[in-house]
Amino acid sequence: MPTIKRKHIKLKRNSICPCDENDKREKPLKYKNCCLKEVRNSEQQIRMLHHHDKRVSKAKKEMDAAIERDNQYAIDHPIIIP
Ligand SMILES: [Zn+2]
Repeated sequence: MPTIKRKHIKLKRNSICPCDENDKREKPLKYKNCCLKEVRNSEQQIRMLHHHDKRVSKAKKEMDAAIERDNQYAIDHPIIIP
């Protein structure tokens, strides 16, 4: 197996970001103010989504438990239809 050389240069937070976006800029931004920010933002979004998922699954569990309780109640107290 041939070793794959990493294309990406290891970036430092304060080095100039090598992205195309930055090339177009008159004043090139540092990595921390350019793509690193976006990486951070997307990480934040993922984290928030994950948090949201957790909350949703917790709510679902509570809902299931409530339905379960209702079913139990219905068994214990059958509705008598005249
Ligand atoms: Zn960039």
